[in-house]
Amino acid sequence: MGEEDGTESGEQIGKLKTIWRNRKCAEAGLYWAGAEEKQRRAISILCRGPKFTIHQARMLTGLEKSLGSIYRNSRVCKTPARCYRIEPDLDKIMQESRDPKELLWAWKGWRDTVGPPSRELYPALIMMENQAAMNNGYNNMGECWREELEIPDLEQFVEQLYAEISPLHRLLHAFVRHKLSQMYGRELVDPNTTMPAHLLGNMWAQSWESLHPELAETIVDLDGAVVNRSTNELFEIAQEFYTSIGFRNMPKNFWKNSKTVRSENGSCHGTAANMYTKDDYRMLLCWKGQWEDFYVMHHEMGHIQYYMAYEKQPTIFKDGANSAFQEAIGDTIMLAVETRRHLQQIGIIKKNPILLEDLELSLLLRQALKKIPQITFGLVVDKWRWGVMSSKILPKDYNAAWWQYRRKYEGLHPPVLRAETDFDPAAKFHVADNTPYIRYFLSEFLQFQFLDILCDVSNTNQKYLLHQCDLYGSKDVGKRMK
Ligand SMILES: [Zn+2]
Repeated sequence: MGEEDGTESGEQIGKLKTIWRNRKCAEAGLYWAGAEEKQRRAISILCRGPKFTIHQARMLTGLEKSLGSIYRNSRVCKTPARCYRIEPDLDKIMQESRDPKELLWAWKGWRDTVGPPSRELYPALIMMENQAAMNNGYNNMGECWREELEIPDLEQFVEQLYAEISPLHRLLHAFVRHKLSQMYGRELVDPNTTMPAHLLGNMWAQSWESLHPELAETIVDLDGAVVNRSTNELFEIAQEFYTSIGFRNMPKNFWKNSKTVRSENGSCHGTAANMYTKDDYRMLLCWKGQWEDFYVMHHEMGHIQYYMAYEKQPTIFKDGANSAFQEAIGDTIMLAVETRRHLQQIGIIKKNPILLEDLELSLLLRQALKKIPQITFGLVVDKWRWGVMSSKILPKDYNAAWWQYRRKYEGLHPPVLRAETDFDPAAKFHVADNTPYIRYFLSEFLQFQFLDILCDVSNTNQKYLLHQCDLYGSKDVGKRMK
């Protein structure tokens, strides 16, 4: 997802777009009856969702900009001379520090800084969005967000998916809780209940992956494998996976126009952009020198492969089947990359046959630490926002409801007492940026379903289990994906 560029011309274009769309959708009603199915589909994609008046659009853009800038410009200071941004500074502390006092300082500091000022703006943002949704016949904005996914009874459906994954989450939670209790003591981590959210190795506890070295019997140093390689070399490796299954090379413009920003140089959010002109697709990579960068390359290249696949479609159809579907493409490829077989094949981990099973178990644990908490967190973020948009959750209960969900679905509690002067949801980029989030929850399920199907298609994986399945080199996989 891109971010607002915040310029005058950006606002001007937004205004023209709103006027154009409102006019086209008003006209569409006139020829709906005589339209063919494909035209109806185009009309419904264009005209569904909120309908903003110019005034509402301007108000909303202003609110979004203010919230975004609170998130981007907030600093947490240890001393007046030593201030920390969320990315990469605080993020890094949360990943690397094992000092509970320092972790609490970063956790609480970030929320104390972004929460209260964001809270003042948030109810107005929700009100503005709901008005625009009602202009187009919806009860609230949550209905528009869910409609885009085109899954009937989505609210019910995500609960069902959660229930399916819940036993695995409980197992992982129990294992991590036990280990953390040993590491930090029972005072801090009670082995019989929810875990404090600041000790999971991530600012939002949405991935517990950085705890892997402490939790696994066999260490796999994936960060070490990428840190000394050039970004170009890694891009080539990522591209090569896609071409090995019959996808196209990234076009020339990609190599010319993509940008790598070293993350210590400021806040940066990785993006794959479709420029809607021939063969112009670009990537913004925020380089941290970690394995995660290699993952982002595959993920964003998945988006670009998708852009290239629909380049001949009319503009209105140049989008994923839905946002969750798009997100799952690159992630499916990455699941195959992160198998023991493939990592050894590309020389990321050394060949050592004695350790085969240990290695695979360790990689499996890594996937679990990364994927399972992301699923539960993904559910909480949008369940909370759907509740806020439908007024099931009122502004006076914003923060309490947030923690109620985090407790219930994630088994987490805040490390210090929270109040309604706090506003912890705004500590997450996608809330401040007002981007829907359930797509990431759904994408986690889709990518394993994709992998399952593709493994059956590729003839080299018949004797392997899903976590051993490497899709590399199979043209049948590419054909099936297309
Ligand atoms: Zn993405």
